[in-house]
Amino acid sequence: MVNYLLRSGAMKLSLRKINDLTDAEVEDKLKLLRWPSTNGEPVCPDCACDAVYVIATRSQYRCMRCGHTFSITSGTVFHSTKLSLRSILQLGLLWANAAKGKSALELRRDIGMNHKCSFVLLHKLREALLTTADDTPMDGEVETIFHTPLHN
Ligand SMILES: [Zn+2]
Repeated sequence: MVNYLLRSGAMKLSLRKINDLTDAEVEDKLKLLRWPSTNGEPVCPDCACDAVYVIATRSQYRCMRCGHTFSITSGTVFHSTKLSLRSILQLGLLWANAAKGKSALELRRDIGMNHKCSFVLLHKLREALLTTADDTPMDGEVETIFHTPLHN
């Protein structure tokens, strides 16, 4: 098993690259992360239909089948945050690359958000990890690393 941080996908994105992206490119990156199975094309979260049209004035989509209106953050931990899409992408990168975890105070400094918002978002991200974790039993050869506490 390869460490996530050494994967080629993790190496391709950096804060500098995110800062250099246009707003449209940031949105495209997030759409690709949100809807990878359709290559970034929006999918209705209510009926899983991919026939949607864009409501450009609100940066939202409307399903042509059920009429549901949604955005790129609908149904995610970022739903109803006031963060820009660029900040969401930066936050995701910082959080995923923090091998030993990320504190709310660090995020506050790195993203420039308030402490309460970063604290709540980190809890939502951790909760999302737990609720979406694949708990299928592993098979084949499995390696684990145990960290034992130091004793005097
Ligand atoms: Zn729908």
